[in-house]
Amino acid sequence: VRELLQNLQADERIILESVFWAGTPSRHELLLSTGFSKTKLNEAVANLIASGWLEEGELQDSRGGRPPLGLSFAPKLGYVIGVDLGATRVDVILSNVALEPIEVCHASIDVRSGPGTVMPMISKLIADLLESHHLEPDQVLSLGFGMPSPIEFETGILINPILMAGWEGFSLRDYFASSLEVPVAVDNDVNVMALGELWHTRINAPAQDRHENFLVVKLGTGIGAGIVARGEIYRGADGAAGDIGHNCVDPHGPRCVCGNFGCLELWAGANSIIQSATEAGRNAQSPAIAILLEKNGLLRKPYLLEKPGITIEDVARAAREGDHASNEIIQDAGSRIGQVLAGLVNFFNPARILIGGRVARIGPLMLSSIRQSVYARSLPLSTRALRIDYTRLGNESGMRGACALALLEAIRRPDLARL
Ligand SMILES: [Zn+2]
Repeated sequence: VRELLQNLQADERIILESVFWAGTPSRHELLLSTGFSKTKLNEAVANLIASGWLEEGELQDSRGGRPPLGLSFAPKLGYVIGVDLGATRVDVILSNVALEPIEVCHASIDVRSGPGTVMPMISKLIADLLESHHLEPDQVLSLGFGMPSPIEFETGILINPILMAGWEGFSLRDYFASSLEVPVAVDNDVNVMALGELWHTRINAPAQDRHENFLVVKLGTGIGAGIVARGEIYRGADGAAGDIGHNCVDPHGPRCVCGNFGCLELWAGANSIIQSATEAGRNAQSPAIAILLEKNGLLRKPYLLEKPGITIEDVARAAREGDHASNEIIQDAGSRIGQVLAGLVNFFNPARILIGGRVARIGPLMLSSIRQSVYARSLPLSTRALRIDYTRLGNESGMRGACALALLEAIRRPDLARL
């Protein structure tokens, strides 16, 4: 399958990318999207069908008469693997090249332990997935990676990862070129989510919901925004666009690991929410959290990042069950997230803000606090059509996006398959 990738002609790459964004386009739709002549298109499509890339079937939504033919990636051509790496967990998904998920697996990790520890674990997850489906590495077209760090997109190298010191300058492409001999596309985790959402929207959403200008915000240990502008991921001059977790929300606030004061993550990052709840439990403001800490023997011990004794889900549950302090902590986090997003809304005027990540899923209170804060602070014209919702792919948007990245970059970039 790698050879097929290397042998792709420029025209064929353009057609494959059009199919990627359209799902099952008709030949007529491909004529419009590629601008090719009918002869040129038919010739290239014939080659792509003959070499096993595409297959042609009847489109489903025909309105009577003879159904038009639609082109799609041939699922049996090969596979792509998506990896969504977070601070504490990695998700791996195996898909066919039509981007239909086959199997998902995950593991708990500590990304701070460095690539020497984390990468062999990821390799093992990938090897197990392939083995359980009797697949060889050379049936894998490409790997896609979402990393919780700024990335130099062309080379896939991590730049200045805060809290991930051991990863500075690490090259995932070199690692997998030598171990699995599979091409790798890498991007920042929230850009990968944004790509997944953009692809999913283009393929599945009704026409009026196919927005080309929107933000995807990941709320996890870190906080980041993926920017989709005119239907493309916007990465900025150095690949650091959307790194909003260290935007200042209170200049008089405490000092952050990045060296600045009052960063958003100090209120709304997963660890900060857990720490605030722990303190509320210890000083008797939150009876529900106090009970949990007591159970774990930590009520009279200081908060420790490595061993907090409660989880973000515990705080969410306490809030749902009416714990006043937990509610306030979540509301305050949502309000400060909204404070930063309101600035982005005024600046960028997105049609949608899609919220994802572990902290987003703690319940409707977080989403409603963010909404309230954004609408209260943004200019009326910017929010006239704005909607703030959960990501459409839910907790799969990172790994599904990583698969989309793997396929898109493999067909876009001839250099990727040269390993
Ligand atoms: Zn900071």
